[in-house]
Amino acid sequence: MAGATLRTLDYSVLQQCMHCGMCLPTCPTYDTTRHERNSPRGRIALMRAIADGTLGVTREFAEELSYCLGCLACQTACPAGVDYAEAFEAARSDIELSRAHPGAARKFWRALTLGFLFMHPRMLRMAARALGVYQRSGLESLVRRSGLIRLLPPALRRLEPQTPRIASRFSNARIGTHEAPAGTARYRVALLTGCVQDLVFPDVNRDTADVLLANGCAVDTPAVQPCCGSLHAHNGDLDGARTLARRMIDLFPPDRYDAIISNAGGCGSHLRRYGSLLEDDPVYRERARAWDARLQDVHEWLALIGCRAPEAAPSSEPIHVTYHESCHLVHGQKVTRQPRALLRMIPGVSLVELPESTWCCGAAGIYAITQPAQAELLLQRKVGHIVSTGAQYVATANPGCHLQIARGLDAAGLRVQVVHPVSLLAEAYRASAAGAED
Ligand code: SF4
Ligand code: SF4
Repeated sequence: MAGATLRTLDYSVLQQCMHCGMCLPTCPTYDTTRHERNSPRGRIALMRAIADGTLGVTREFAEELSYCLGCLACQTACPAGVDYAEAFEAARSDIELSRAHPGAARKFWRALTLGFLFMHPRMLRMAARALGVYQRSGLESLVRRSGLIRLLPPALRRLEPQTPRIASRFSNARIGTHEAPAGTARYRVALLTGCVQDLVFPDVNRDTADVLLANGCAVDTPAVQPCCGSLHAHNGDLDGARTLARRMIDLFPPDRYDAIISNAGGCGSHLRRYGSLLEDDPVYRERARAWDARLQDVHEWLALIGCRAPEAAPSSEPIHVTYHESCHLVHGQKVTRQPRALLRMIPGVSLVELPESTWCCGAAGIYAITQPAQAELLLQRKVGHIVSTGAQYVATANPGCHLQIARGLDAAGLRVQVVHPVSLLAEAYRASAAGAED
């Protein structure tokens, strides 16, 4: 039935909005158009009308929710505590259930990615491996030079240069299943390797394991891990997200660990909501709540256990670093102070504040694919601010932001490097260890 998910949502989620408009100045899409319907307040009004049965799930509604970044800046700004994340996911689920987004090509890509590859981690790695071989073998350059790219449909042609570079070895080839720190372990933790992080930035996962080990944590990193389900939840496939949440909980029983560690803002924000996702599941409900209580963003965990300051600098020269806040780390998880504290404790690093550090960079999952013009606008705004800091590095803790910002900097011909905060800390620990050996 159209609007079924919004209708079953705890109605107070939508009723809580008192139309005060405090969220409007924080919303990137409202900032662009100044149209009420492109604002959080306008979108909540539409959702409420659907829940009330006075509006159907129309194509216009689907387009409006596709234009929303899901950045959750409105959630941080809201004095009434509206849970926009939950309402947004319910709305997107209704859109998929009502098939308000027509098109065979869209259906095919959803079935291939959400329905198949991201449900089967081994198949996802196999597909990524094939793509990596294509990229490294010279075949990619050949295809580009031959002009064959021009035969692709316009959307794919536009996306082709944005394909991320696939790593030659994934996390399972770099991190042991069980790794123990020198001396007695103070904590036992699980490390979630993610999907994009695993395929594109496995070095960030290795750095995370190293930093945890250096802080007295025994680290469990199963070689094959399911996708966390955030892509599914954000794109209206709540059943797929629930299936993946159950697989995660089975693989990482929460009572086995002091903490379950995520190093990707987008994944972490979803991972700590398994309790509400599985609320109606009598078998998993309690374990899902226990899971949420154990889930920690890596910066948050390091701050909690008292992160050890490295003795040496990661680079022989002093470096200026600015920090871009992933929307789902700052707004979804409220982790904002800890990454800065971590960067400040690294010798030789000076942190330069980024103007509008919490403003979305336009990555937002697959937003750059679905809304390229708005994504580009936000990227240009972000790049401009990064340039204004004069920093040589921009630190960020989400693979989507990492890729998007790196692409923007590269296109502008800038030599600013994008780095995960934990990678800088890991490098400083390595320099400290090398200094101690000399
Ligand atoms: S999630 Fe972001 S884009 Fe969507 S309504 Fe909220 S602030 Fe605006
Ligand atoms: S700030 Fe909260 S209560 Fe006010 S209009 Fe926005 S969503 Fe509604």
